[in-house]
Amino acid sequence: MNRIFNFSAGPCTLPVPVLQSAAEEFLEYRGQGMSLIEMSHRSKEYDAVHREAAGLVRRLYGLPDQYRVLFLGGGASLQFSMVPMNLMPPGGRCDLALTGAWSKKALSDARKIGTVRLAYDGSDENFMNLPDPATLEAGAGSAYFHLTSNETIGGVQWQRFPDTGEVPLVCDMSSDFVSRPVDLTRFGLIYAGAQKNAGPAGACIVIIREDLLERSGDNLTAYLSYATHAAKDSMYNTPPVFAVYMVMKTLKWLEDQGGLEAAERMANERSELLYGAIARNAGFYSCPVKEHCRSVMNIVFRLPDEELEKKFVAEALENGMSGLKGHRSVGGCRASVYNAMPVAGARALAGFMDDFAARNG
Ligand SMILES: *Cc1c(COP(=O)(O)O)cnc(C)c1O
Repeated sequence: MNRIFNFSAGPCTLPVPVLQSAAEEFLEYRGQGMSLIEMSHRSKEYDAVHREAAGLVRRLYGLPDQYRVLFLGGGASLQFSMVPMNLMPPGGRCDLALTGAWSKKALSDARKIGTVRLAYDGSDENFMNLPDPATLEAGAGSAYFHLTSNETIGGVQWQRFPDTGEVPLVCDMSSDFVSRPVDLTRFGLIYAGAQKNAGPAGACIVIIREDLLERSGDNLTAYLSYATHAAKDSMYNTPPVFAVYMVMKTLKWLEDQGGLEAAERMANERSELLYGAIARNAGFYSCPVKEHCRSVMNIVFRLPDEELEKKFVAEALENGMSGLKGHRSVGGCRASVYNAMPVAGARALAGFMDDFAARNG
């Protein structure tokens, strides 16, 4: 077997022990004569997996009882519409911080449901900066304040969050979920597609404060209502069983590593290695993002020209490092270093960056 270092932005690398353990129990799950994905989602085997997955989310964040953990289909993208449909009253308004490509999508969907006030608009600075959270406020009559904790494409990440008082903070945490300790009691709702830090694609984790469930109107169709899913513990319909099972295993692995503190420590180590390589070779690599808000999950950088960028990506692959091409909308290079990327992977890439710069600079 030859596993390479996979820097893809998502789906992305997963912990090898998790993949191994899933492979071992894949054909026959715990003496049941079938795999887990062949049995009823009402079986006691799946029920235990489902509960443990939610339990791990609770334990990792130290979630108090008034928060519910849901596993939904439709990816994080469905939340761009479910959030406004459920949380904004008819004719209502909300606030949103526009910080890059993902918050732009959240904005576009929210605008179809109600009025969105831009509490911050980063487009003037090409989304390479974030505001001081202390300068942000929720507007009068706002139903919620939406932000994107880590812009996966642009590589900006909030270090601290605004205080929006009584207005619930709603956050798309898709690309930095379970990567650092965060006090979730400051949020009304957070959501995250699993496929960046928490498992494979197919499940979206939603954490919602119970009082907000009362906002889900009767006009909503069943699947689109948070209240439906909360009332049935995410078993209103067939949940994405395989994805939830893999999330359970991935979060268990994270808990065994030392939980969110350990995740943050490793994220800092990995990102320091890569930003260090950019800084050491400053005439060759450049990071367009302002230093105070650089992501520790998605490190974006440019080379002197596009030809060199192409060559860099191709040679990195020959050296066992894949997924380094930047998002097609922005170009350049991007190294995504989520929880499961070993520090050794970041070290190998940093070494390759030094070497490539020396040969091509
Ligand atoms: C990947 C991503 C999404 C979209 O997730 P899907 O599960 O593909 O819908 C949304 N927001 C952020 C910040 C992301 O990184």
